[in-house]
Amino acid sequence: MSVPASFLYQLTGSMSEGAAGNPTGAMMEAAFAHHGLPWRYINMEVPSATLADAVRGARAMGFRGFNCSIPHKIAVIQCLDALGRSAEIIGAVNCVVERDGRFIGENTDGIGFLRSLETILPPAEKELVILGAGGAARAIAVELALAGARHLTIVNRDARRGSELAGLITTRTNASASFVEWSATFRLPKSADALINATSIGLYQPDALPDIELDSLRSDSVVADVVFNPVQTRLLKEAAARGCKSLDGLGMLVNQGATAIEYWTGITPDARVLRAALEHAMGV
Ligand code: NDP
Repeated sequence: MSVPASFLYQLTGSMSEGAAGNPTGAMMEAAFAHHGLPWRYINMEVPSATLADAVRGARAMGFRGFNCSIPHKIAVIQCLDALGRSAEIIGAVNCVVERDGRFIGENTDGIGFLRSLETILPPAEKELVILGAGGAARAIAVELALAGARHLTIVNRDARRGSELAGLITTRTNASASFVEWSATFRLPKSADALINATSIGLYQPDALPDIELDSLRSDSVVADVVFNPVQTRLLKEAAARGCKSLDGLGMLVNQGATAIEYWTGITPDARVLRAALEHAMGV
């Protein structure tokens, strides 16, 4: 057996509450191992009350970066030195990157979705409908707009949150955006290229379906879901039954992880390795 040149690992990880349910570490460590990187990804349970101490600890221990998940994506900002462009517009950070000794906040959720979508529908000049206006919807909307989408329709129950997101897109990006209050069954307009469920409807509920007119899904529509558990949500099954191309939430999760590894190490990992490890960890 060969002896490594150094017994010291480069440290990354994740800070969240409810960390025991987070399968991300399995795919990140699989990617590090596959690419021969002496890096580790530590899944850390961090209560809100000690987040600032935890970030100071990460600095003290020389962490190269870390992911932030619920409930730290906004609160972590005050512990950082600067924000990347899309994280600043989104107003949330899920990935901290150490650059020249500074902790920079990035957001890879929207980029993860974008990379997944690009495999079947490059969004430039496209008209896209997003269900939801929460954290995931915000990150996705901003990245789609920065990637050149022509128009985004935000469909949300809470009118204040929905119109605020449409306003953010209109004022901070070159895309146009409109808001539709989700108070009745939503019908996908003929002009729309894709429908994206960015709500939590369907999470751990295989039968739950967003309130949409299923007959408005056409065979040339792309239907995407951010929910990754179950992987095949009822929405994706209904879309497939109508001949639509569909994208599951695991693709977004895998690609946000791959982007984080790229930010931290400079190496573009093989997304297939991450996906296989994630599927294995989740038993799918
Ligand atoms: P938030 O709590 O920030 O937002 C939830 C959104 O869902 C809101 O727009 C809310 O509407 C809407 N919503 C929830 N229930 C209903 C309902 N019954 N009817 C209509 N609208 C509803 O959550 P996040 O944005 O952080 O997460 C959303 C989903 O995205 C989760 O399932 C999460 O697991 C997933 N996710 C997936 C990722 C991936 O990599 N695949 C990454 C990040 C998140 P309202 O504003 O009206 O309350």
